[in-house]
Amino acid sequence: MIEESEFDFENRIVSPEPIKKDIEEELERSIRPKTLDEYIGQSKAKENMKIYIEAAKQRGEVLDHVLLYGPPGLGKTTLSEIIAHEMGANCRKTNGSAIQKPGDLAALLTNLQEGDVLFIDEIHRLSRAIEEILYPAMEDYVLDIIVGKGPSARSIRLDLNRFTLIGATTIAGQLTAPLRDRFGIIARLEPYSNDELCEIIQRSSMILKSPCDNQGAMELASRSRGTPRVANRLLRRSRDYAQVITGSDTPTLNKELIDTALVRMGVDSLGLDELDRRLLKMIIVSYGGGPVGLETLAAAIGEDARTIEESCEPFLMQLGFLSRTKGGRCATDLAYAHLGMTRNGQTTMFHLGK
Ligand code: ADP
Repeated sequence: MIEESEFDFENRIVSPEPIKKDIEEELERSIRPKTLDEYIGQSKAKENMKIYIEAAKQRGEVLDHVLLYGPPGLGKTTLSEIIAHEMGANCRKTNGSAIQKPGDLAALLTNLQEGDVLFIDEIHRLSRAIEEILYPAMEDYVLDIIVGKGPSARSIRLDLNRFTLIGATTIAGQLTAPLRDRFGIIARLEPYSNDELCEIIQRSSMILKSPCDNQGAMELASRSRGTPRVANRLLRRSRDYAQVITGSDTPTLNKELIDTALVRMGVDSLGLDELDRRLLKMIIVSYGGGPVGLETLAAAIGEDARTIEESCEPFLMQLGFLSRTKGGRCATDLAYAHLGMTRNGQTTMFHLGK
């Protein structure tokens, strides 16, 4: 039997999405890189962006519209703010789901100053009607609005200041083709290597005044699921533990302290947390390793199917622990090995997934 526990899903420590505690934290702002040089990794996207920014500046033009795509927590918002900063412009931020009515978008667009960046996170959530207002705005910097109703309705055209739209989405394929085609620059953000995460962790640890040694940073990096947001969060929590354990408010973080902290947080050697392990164990123990349908699985562990699909599965599949088949989800041999379990139901000595 899988035991029920008081798992705090909303504040899941390894979530690639922002959690309540991140949003509250002032520190989050101070850690965020402000220039392209401070932005670690993503070398391809960064080098291209440097050239486009330089060229636009030399010509005295606004930067072409940019589409950034990739999993959550990889730095899309950060890169947008940096682009605005490098262009010497303001960055106005919103979310696709917040733009419900044509008037919402019109208000945003008419308030933009010359050269401003408009960042729309989750841009795939825009409705078709809103997208259609966006097309002429992106192409010709004009806004067509309908005044009046019925037979007396007429369309008037307003000139807008030139602006750069930066759209962010997790999967480029979620966007309609006409919208995607209107972006001149399309960049895909990739998961970070452990070396890059190590650099991010060491930079953040200096800002937090709790330097992290090389081994410690590497340990944290290898448990951060390729995601800077997770790395920074695990760093802040490890620092809290270290502060209590050492009694210093500027503790130096080493491998031992970090390991102790992460074990207490339930984050294992590969970055799996209790929810990941519970999911895998449910497939293995209750469904003989699968296949089992997503909805059945979600009901069995008492979690929302979308959370499982978006927040657990991508990483478990990246590790090769989970496969999606026509019949449902299956646990792979690698998952059995990581949890110290075998297909005949026995548990091996190296039980990592307690
Ligand atoms: P996204 O918009 O893709 O969900 P964010 O831009 O909000 O991700 O990034 C999450 C956090 O990770 C930020 O607070 C930032 O501090 C950190 N971060 C992201 N990318 C980088 C990077 N390339 N270098 C350093 N820190 C980064």
